[in-house]
Amino acid sequence: MNILVLNSGSSSIKFQVVQTDQAAIAKDGDRCLAKGQIERIGSLALVHFHATGRPPVKEDTPLRDYRAALDRIVRWVIAPESGIKGIDSLADIHAVGHRVVHGGEKFRASMLITDEVLAGIEDCVELAPLHNPANLRGIRAAAEVFGPGVPQVAVFDTAFHAAMPETAFLYGIPYHLYRRYKIRRYGFHGTSHRYLAYRYRMLSKLPKEAVNIITLHLGNGCSACAIKGGDSVNTSMGFTPLEGMVMGTRAGDVDVSVIEFLSHKEGLSLPDMITMLNKQSGLLGLSGLTSDMRELLDEEKENGDRRATLAIDVFCASVRRRIGSYLAEMGGADALVFSGGIGENSPAIRRRVCAGLTALGIELDEARNAALKGGQTGDISKKGSRVKVLVIPTNEELLIARDAYRTVAGLPQRTFSPRKARKA
Ligand code: ADP
Repeated sequence: MNILVLNSGSSSIKFQVVQTDQAAIAKDGDRCLAKGQIERIGSLALVHFHATGRPPVKEDTPLRDYRAALDRIVRWVIAPESGIKGIDSLADIHAVGHRVVHGGEKFRASMLITDEVLAGIEDCVELAPLHNPANLRGIRAAAEVFGPGVPQVAVFDTAFHAAMPETAFLYGIPYHLYRRYKIRRYGFHGTSHRYLAYRYRMLSKLPKEAVNIITLHLGNGCSACAIKGGDSVNTSMGFTPLEGMVMGTRAGDVDVSVIEFLSHKEGLSLPDMITMLNKQSGLLGLSGLTSDMRELLDEEKENGDRRATLAIDVFCASVRRRIGSYLAEMGGADALVFSGGIGENSPAIRRRVCAGLTALGIELDEARNAALKGGQTGDISKKGSRVKVLVIPTNEELLIARDAYRTVAGLPQRTFSPRKARKA
């Protein structure tokens, strides 16, 4: 089955065309036929398409809206000159899988999109006002392009974390606020953490119940996940993706009293403050230079910039602190997995994060770490390290395609239910 996987952002669409079915899943032989993205939708858009085994295509083209952008993608996917094997017309796309950021407490599994599911995703807009509307635009545009004959499936970023016990998802605020408004930790990047747990299980040939690991998705947004018995038992992002570790432009954990203090001192409005914490903080805010880790590392190396070093060090300390807290919460882990743009590509950050963790059983092998190329999977731990340290490139699109296939084929889907809290 050929699945079009769509990840619709506020002014961008990322996509993949994945060929999968039961035999492919069993053999881990799914194939990515093509991928690409369109950025700056609504003005002169940047188009980047790549059919597997062919040279990439880049162009600038004015695209008015989502519908126009998706039309552009679909026209390219089915055009014979694009050279995507087995795809010659719209009828060769059998289902569309969508990344949907917020599923609230309602969606604990991937869902075939019906009017009811669509209404449920809309109900979650107030929980993710930036992300869910973009995801909904993608779903509506796909319904227009493909018509009712092509099933669409929603795969939620929050679903994997729906297994967290109450002790992990409740904040220490009055309980009625959880009851009344569902204020709680939801967690995000769930499909990525779920993929990393799956890939670890495949690599180590373990049953799901034996997967006890900490996964680190370190990209522009960063989150950590404590995975016990194959389920998420805690994660660092919270009610929104703002909480947790220091990120590219997000502050991560901050005492909320800072907001009131700053509103007096700087006269900032509440929305301005939230924008500051989401868009002007993190690596960007600390360094005053950039949110891009690679640029910060270059700046540190070439110019010895003190603030670049400071930003990187605060970032690494926030990741390290999270690893320690999850080791305590899980009672130890078998592996630490690095992923995301930073985790997959930066030996320097992996080394700095792991520095000083020997007492916790985490020991990096410097040579293996330095030798691992971006995009490669590998074990970078020292022989005898109690906790294995691995690098696994994430692949959310693969799980979205598989979930879409399973849903359409009427096969059982994983549903994530809250685990019992650990006894004190
Ligand atoms: P997103 O979260 O938007 O998907 P990515 O996962 O692509 O983002 O991660 C982007 C981050 O990865 C940026 O901070 C970028 O600088 C960083 N990154 C990519 N390659 C490297 C590298 N070789 N060294 C250090 N950081 C890198």
